[in-house]
Amino acid sequence: SEPVLEIKNLNVDYGLGDQAVHAVRDVNLTLHRGEVLGLAGESGSGKSTLAYGLTRLLAPPGVVSGGQVIYHPEKGDAYDVLGLSDKELQAFRWAETAIVFQGAMNSLNPVHKISTQLTDVLAAHEPQMSSHSRTARAREMLKLVGISPDRMDAYPHQLSGGMRQRVMIGMALILQPQVVIMDEPTTALDVVMQRQILGQLIELRERLGFSVIFITHDLSLLVEFSNRIAIMYGGRIVEEAQASTLYRESLHPYSAGLLGSFPALRGPRRELTGIPGSPPDLKGMPTGCSFHPRCPKAFDPCADNIPVLGNPDTPDGATRTVACWLHPVKQPVS
Ligand code: SF4
Ligand code: MG
Repeated sequence: SEPVLEIKNLNVDYGLGDQAVHAVRDVNLTLHRGEVLGLAGESGSGKSTLAYGLTRLLAPPGVVSGGQVIYHPEKGDAYDVLGLSDKELQAFRWAETAIVFQGAMNSLNPVHKISTQLTDVLAAHEPQMSSHSRTARAREMLKLVGISPDRMDAYPHQLSGGMRQRVMIGMALILQPQVVIMDEPTTALDVVMQRQILGQLIELRERLGFSVIFITHDLSLLVEFSNRIAIMYGGRIVEEAQASTLYRESLHPYSAGLLGSFPALRGPRRELTGIPGSPPDLKGMPTGCSFHPRCPKAFDPCADNIPVLGNPDTPDGATRTVACWLHPVKQPVS
């Protein structure tokens, strides 16, 4: 299907010049219409920085130091989000691309009713809308995310964490954006609640037709809920494939380690191996493949040469990419 968001050679640094730390390196990633793209990696791998960078929500000293983020609106011409003026950006966020942050449920304003917080978003973006219609839309949105509209007048502290998170998701969807970015949206909730909310989101996506970038360190959630998965390590994408393909046969030793870090959902139990060692420090990124100090399969070229991300020379190579010296690349990703 057609692309809705194309991230091209995106680089994000913290700081400038000699002091700059490279947090996101040469990321190329395409989100297609209606798709759920999972982005996985340990904390510090650059996942959140990538999300903040592409929506231009980076706080200083974070800065996008290169690349493009091409957005294809439902109607009209594609444009580079990185070239939008501040005013255009205000309209773009929420209305075209909405983001639900990690711990978002704690960012509701404690002194306002949830109905007011929902209708305020509408008032800011669709000022011509009558207050009656705004209230009606807010009710409808709450219903969609599984909250009874008679909770409209509740204050955030009167709702459970799961309900507050649903309100945030409702708020993200209220202007019917084409793209919804979820950054660890349910991490603070228990596992049952996480699955429930995500299941519901996927159902909504089928009904409303938006696309999702879903960021988490929990690869088991991605295997269950996404169509495609990209794995990040040390600020780079190291593997990308269909969720089922990745689950069946990951190529990158880091992906294999992540998959070994959680129990199998179905089928035979596997041993939890995890990944020894810790994620690299951005300030002292290892040379060559940044995973080499932790990689059980590291060999000659790994410590000195950065592997190129590209389609591997395998029968299904055209549908996946990997950056690892174990898998010679037939066609590099530009
Ligand atoms: Fe391991 Fe080498 Fe592959 Fe890096 S390039 S993941 S160190 S085998
Ligand atoms: Mg994060």
